[in-house]
Amino acid sequence: MRHSAPRSARFIGSVGVFLLMVGSPPVSAQGPRGAEARVLERALRLLPVRPDVPIRIIDPELAPAPDAVRRLDAFMVRGPDGAIRRLIYLNRRAAMIEDAMTGRDLSVAILAAVIHHELAHLHGAGEPEARRLEREFFRSLVFGGRVPLDQGLQYLRDLEQDRQLRERQ
Ligand SMILES: [Zn+2]
Repeated sequence: MRHSAPRSARFIGSVGVFLLMVGSPPVSAQGPRGAEARVLERALRLLPVRPDVPIRIIDPELAPAPDAVRRLDAFMVRGPDGAIRRLIYLNRRAAMIEDAMTGRDLSVAILAAVIHHELAHLHGAGEPEARRLEREFFRSLVFGGRVPLDQGLQYLRDLEQDRQLRERQ
């Protein structure tokens, strides 16, 4: 899981986070609308396969544990039966999401990579595997010309550095 990770200097908030919360999902979370829906759609189109789960962008204040959610980019919820709900939440106040809303190609690609990471968890991947898949996917976007090359390479270096930092912990 990607909890309170060391943040890169260049891409504040670029670190995707996975949290399993116990309890009810935010009841007022709705499907994204307007500008958010358009940016999310752009990110989804970058994915190799369209996600088979809903993705909700929510305000942390509406989540069951606002203090925990505020520090996260993305999270999922575990139901009372212990199973992970097939639903991905994105924190509207996270810098990663706010960056994506600017519509920059790089930021939208980072959002897609974070969603890719969460989907990997939903399909059973542990944290190292989810990170590896995230990096691999982002690399494919960079070399597929979906992201300006210099920015994409820099972000890949940040992801790699982040991995090394964690492995030392
Ligand atoms: Zn994770």
